[in-house]
Amino acid sequence: MKTIKKRYVLTFPPESGDKPLSYHLVRDFDIQINILKAEVKPGKTGVLLLELEGIRENLEKGISYLEENHVTCTPLSKKIKFDQPRCINCGNCTAVCFAGALKMDRTVWELRFNHEKCVVCELCVKACPLNLFTIDFS
Ligand code: SF4
Ligand code: SF4
Repeated sequence: MKTIKKRYVLTFPPESGDKPLSYHLVRDFDIQINILKAEVKPGKTGVLLLELEGIRENLEKGISYLEENHVTCTPLSKKIKFDQPRCINCGNCTAVCFAGALKMDRTVWELRFNHEKCVVCELCVKACPLNLFTIDFS
């Protein structure tokens, strides 16, 4: 069966912190998890940015399972649009792109944007002095 990948921001309350939720996603729903960013502190609300891969039905069941455990799951369906021809290759945006989607090719000193790695964190939108990044809601 064909698997799909979807990205979510998970916000979970402190009481969920010690539950093995990701273990259950893997074992019970055959979902592969790629954690792209994590801000989890003991006893505090945690936020995870992750990519889930599995068959559609299992992803839906896994998300329902998380929500039953009081985890808020927000799908990331937006995309970042980049007006590359106007880029002056200053490199500002590479400093904020923790996902590694924006990198400078130092052999020619040109910015490379890898859409596959972009997690739509929107940090580059403010970092670019020419406002070359915009959010595409379509
Ligand atoms: S939104 Fe911008 S900063 Fe965030 S991952 Fe995508 S390219 Fe990088
Ligand atoms: S900050 Fe803007 S102008 Fe500078 S390299 Fe990034 S996209 Fe290009």
